[in-house]
Amino acid sequence: MEMNTEGVRFIKGPVVDMPNWKKLFVESNIPEKLAPLKELSKNLWWVWNTETRELFAKIDQEIWEESVHNPIVLLEQVSYQRFKELENDESFIQEMDSIYERFQKYQQEREQKIGPKIAYFSMEYGLHDSLKIFSGGLGILAGDYLKEASDSKADLVAVGLLYRYGYFKQVISLQGDQMANYEAQQFSKIPVQPAFDKDGNWVRIEVEYPGRTLHAQVWEVKIGSVSLYLLDADIDDNNENDRFVTHHLYGGDNENRLKQEMLLGLGGIRALNKLGHADADIYHCNEGHAAMIGLERIHNLVVDSKLTYAEAKEVVRASTLFTTHTPVPAGHDAFHQDLFAMYMKDYPAKINLSWDEFIMLGKVAPHEDHFNMSFLAANLSQGINGVSMLHGDVSKHILKPLFQGYLSEELNIGYVTNGVHYATWTAKEWKAIHLKYFGKDFTNNQLDFDLWDKIYKVPDQEIWDLKQDLRSKLIDYIKARFADNWVKRNESPKLISEVLSSLNPNALTIGFARRFATYKRAHLLFRNLDRLAKIVNNPERPVQFIFAGKAHPADKAGQDLIKYIVEISKRPEFLGKILFLQNYDMNLAKQLLQGVDIWLNTPTRPLEASGTSGEKGVMNGTLHFSVLDGWWVEGYKEGAGWALPLERSYDVQDFQDELDAQTIYNLFEDEIVPAFYDRNANDVPEEWVGYIKKTQAQVAPNFTTTRMIRDYQERFYAPQAERGARLTADDFKLAREIVGWKSKLAEKWDDIEVKEFEIADGITNAIRIGEEYPARVVLDLKGLSADEVGVEIVMTENGGGDDPELIECKTFDVVGSQDGLTTYKLNLHLTHPGAYNYAIRMFPKNENLPHRQDFGYLRWL
Ligand SMILES: *Cc1c(COP(=O)(O)O)cnc(C)c1O
Repeated sequence: MEMNTEGVRFIKGPVVDMPNWKKLFVESNIPEKLAPLKELSKNLWWVWNTETRELFAKIDQEIWEESVHNPIVLLEQVSYQRFKELENDESFIQEMDSIYERFQKYQQEREQKIGPKIAYFSMEYGLHDSLKIFSGGLGILAGDYLKEASDSKADLVAVGLLYRYGYFKQVISLQGDQMANYEAQQFSKIPVQPAFDKDGNWVRIEVEYPGRTLHAQVWEVKIGSVSLYLLDADIDDNNENDRFVTHHLYGGDNENRLKQEMLLGLGGIRALNKLGHADADIYHCNEGHAAMIGLERIHNLVVDSKLTYAEAKEVVRASTLFTTHTPVPAGHDAFHQDLFAMYMKDYPAKINLSWDEFIMLGKVAPHEDHFNMSFLAANLSQGINGVSMLHGDVSKHILKPLFQGYLSEELNIGYVTNGVHYATWTAKEWKAIHLKYFGKDFTNNQLDFDLWDKIYKVPDQEIWDLKQDLRSKLIDYIKARFADNWVKRNESPKLISEVLSSLNPNALTIGFARRFATYKRAHLLFRNLDRLAKIVNNPERPVQFIFAGKAHPADKAGQDLIKYIVEISKRPEFLGKILFLQNYDMNLAKQLLQGVDIWLNTPTRPLEASGTSGEKGVMNGTLHFSVLDGWWVEGYKEGAGWALPLERSYDVQDFQDELDAQTIYNLFEDEIVPAFYDRNANDVPEEWVGYIKKTQAQVAPNFTTTRMIRDYQERFYAPQAERGARLTADDFKLAREIVGWKSKLAEKWDDIEVKEFEIADGITNAIRIGEEYPARVVLDLKGLSADEVGVEIVMTENGGGDDPELIECKTFDVVGSQDGLTTYKLNLHLTHPGAYNYAIRMFPKNENLPHRQDFGYLRWL
């Protein structure tokens, strides 16, 4: 064929249409037979049920890992073909059906709840890494608590915020700098669903900001039988600035923080009302962030039930519990009063208060320029608690300014020591041993300490094999996940291979992971690098340390500390012996706590309010080595872990650090390393296994959330619910009576006259033990009765500044009333020699008060 090409000089380029791309969503199409997977993926029950997690992993191991264990994403991404395979996989279907059946049974058993109805408020919840609404300890605690509430059939609903970005993901640069990455959450890929009211409308609420209104929509997370409602302000109705309100957890400035707390407190109550949960018996304020719930409830009572402010406050206080978590005054949220006024200036009128009265709810003295959210919470709560025994005492000191006239020891501030959710944090291998030896009902009977005691029946070999196995798994996990991170940040291949090859699955392994705040003293271990190098490099008895933790983006000192540890970890003598792993999250925490031999904690006392990570360790046979602070004060038993002493030896922190570092090295050299490496003929370290057994028998059972929720029920929920019901019965009869009485007392209090005041001569000089010294007080009560005013003597230790130690407090007997005068008498009788101070005071009395500080009147005579 001939072609005449010569004449063709130019071919016109084609004109091609641009494609008109249309959006197409291919939704995963889960076959009918596999439908239960969908339901299982939407209730976080799977988080603490190992078999369900394993079932998800079986669907597609790779996607499961890539999705960071997110079943919603998993089900979206699995191919149709894979579903078809599974549909025909008999054993998979059987397993799924049995799990689903268990889930349904679990839910049915919880249609009937136990105890008073609780509404729980928290700024953060750590339920699973895929739901990024937590930063650390406080959130994980709240998350564990919701899981436990479901397990224990508690009647509880919870409220929080849904953050678009949550808290940051930590990446460590080659130089050891912390980089904070914020990733937006796509709400369709996390286990939240729109929350509907009874008419089927997506619930939305509003909060007034100056000159505008903030709108928020409400989402629901299901945690077994518990619902968590999350408020989301990142919606079109709000201006850009206000959409930011729920972008970051602990991000933005103080103003944003105030906006968040208004949303959580005021908005939270509004959301519950719309959702049909306006009827809780107890409102539990987890930390002061949510303290405005009290204001909003007062407002509702004033409007709906026509109560006065004072009556409404009486009702609200009776039904509110405030849990404080912060051991330092500066840690309590406070807003400058000008900022506070900008946002809240119209609120007092809604509850019939003047601005001056209103702002005193968050202050101790009028001249203070900040409004303190913990003071607000304390003023509107009958119950207040710290989160460990020691922290309960510390909280009394912090909140003492609110209760003038009382010694801190006398304050009605209790404690409930934090616990951890056994099913979430315990390795499946340990769970198997526990079921085998403690009985198959163990998980529902964690409070039966005799069951835990059966750990002594487990052969040493079995325990040791398990521990070895878990340590190996941890080392594998580290190698797989973290080699990848190091490649990404361009660590040299030589360094990476040296680190990986020197990680030793049989070496004594110590974990230290937590928030990098300087008070946690992560640097302590590095006081003497030569000595540390000797400890880790003993060829027969090697030791390795694994660090992890985030520093707050604004905390330069914390970040410097991370950098320092990263630098140390690259020195030749510490390669593969000291390791810093990036992005401490729940999954990493779990791997570490299950795999290491010792969990180390070195806070400056008493700054660790409770701490919970070590509690996760002890249920996994991980021995705890810590300063006696927080929960460890109650947890430590000789032969079940190690402790740095309770008493502080030096006032100068640097000296104390030096001493503590010495103690740590000594303990490692003299006790810990030998106990780990002294083996019997079967290569089992008997002493070490003995430590593990004692830890599980005598430490672990006290620090479960099962114990924790029981304590809340017994110490706070039940008595407060009972009193709350009495106050509100018969159209708030008792609440009104108490207010009437308080108002009468307040009016007459200053008129009461002290007519006589006599104390036996001797008392002004020395008094002798065993002898009685009569004291007598005569009061003109101005019409009040002797039942309404008490007199007591308070003895304290000599000295002790403005908060001396209480020795004794004794009430005077009323011996008679005549001619309007009431006589009080006491025979003082001392049993211990020493120098004391004493003073006498009078106080209002009414058996309907929950405790003395409920009505702050007090007069020293
Ligand atoms: C348990 C846990 C915490 C809290 O641990 P502390 O002992 O209070 O420091 C913080 N972060 C993560 C990821 C945890 O799992």
